[in-house]
Amino acid sequence: MNDPEVDAAVHELAIRSRGLLIGRMGDLGLKSMRSRPAGCFQIFETEDLADHAQSRLIARGIMTERRGPESNTFNRPSLFFPEDRSGDALAYGQALARVIEGQGGVIRTGVSRPILGRDVDGVITVAVEGRPIEADHVVVACGSQTAEALKPVGLDVPIQSIRGWAVDFDKPESVKLPIQPVMDAATRSALTPFEDWFRLSGTWGEESEGLLLSRWSEIMPDVMSICTEVRQIWSGERPVSAEGRPFIGPTQIPNLWINAGHGHMGWTLCAGSGDLMAEMILEGRVETRFAHQNSAH
Ligand SMILES: Cc1cc2nc3c(=O)[nH]c(=O)nc-3n(C[C@H](O)[C@H](O)[C@H](O)COP(=O)(O)OP(=O)(O)OC[C@H]3O[C@@H](n4cnc5c(N)ncnc54)[C@H](O)[C@@H]3O)c2cc1C
Repeated sequence: MNDPEVDAAVHELAIRSRGLLIGRMGDLGLKSMRSRPAGCFQIFETEDLADHAQSRLIARGIMTERRGPESNTFNRPSLFFPEDRSGDALAYGQALARVIEGQGGVIRTGVSRPILGRDVDGVITVAVEGRPIEADHVVVACGSQTAEALKPVGLDVPIQSIRGWAVDFDKPESVKLPIQPVMDAATRSALTPFEDWFRLSGTWGEESEGLLLSRWSEIMPDVMSICTEVRQIWSGERPVSAEGRPFIGPTQIPNLWINAGHGHMGWTLCAGSGDLMAEMILEGRVETRFAHQNSAH
């Protein structure tokens, strides 16, 4: 059973994030989310499952329309989320990194993991490749590895990792795909169309892409029988907290912050989470709904 207060907090964060993402994508010169067709579908195996899902979502304040079987949903019962938007997370991340570096920020990749510690006065310290880094504040945003990163300073943050898969294909010329993303409720996976390619992504804790591909072959056999050449395949770990929401806030250690545990919504919530984190650090804003009880001051 979802905690309504948690749901409300995540919903508000998602709305805040969407506004920021739409604005920033425009500023970054990227094809804005606004120029992509709005909304996305979620398909279900039965009408009853779709009805139950809709009732639960409405109770959580999430706007959704009940749709019957149609070609956009591969003739399955569905819900339509008119407010949803989609975009290219990789393009956004890369463009953002260029701006940060252009403004003097330093991004270091491919280095060994920074080590957190505390000096004799209990002040947080960070060392990268044996060298201390001077920092007024330290934000740990290490996704699934957050718990491990915080262990050396004695903090126990319950974030586990759940693997998901993504496979990209060229769009077929002879079969039309839906223009909005379609999510499959049964496997927590999705079809996302882009300009000349599409992505199948998701599943929950699978060892391979097998279930993802077999499920979408079942849903859209016409497409999958033609699309035999894979453009790209990858898997990643979703950082999932026991509470089902991210931890964003201070820890028991002064000037050490956490921003992690976004589960299957890290891209959806990224801009809002960063904005909230900055407000907490710079303006002293308190938002207890995202606090972790063992890590808060
Ligand atoms: C297949 C798949 C599809 C997905 N689709 C969507 C989607 O459509 N929409 C959506 O909103 N979300 C989606 N997600 C979820 C989203 O990817 C995650 O929620 C998001 O990546 C979490 O972001 P993060 O920055 O917290 O963690 P990560 O993206 O895991 O990044 C953590 C970073 O920290 C680094 N790191 C680890 N340990 C240390 C350390 N000790 N010191 C320094 N750095 C460290 C890692 O190398 C990594 O770069 C999907 C996930 C998967 C797997």
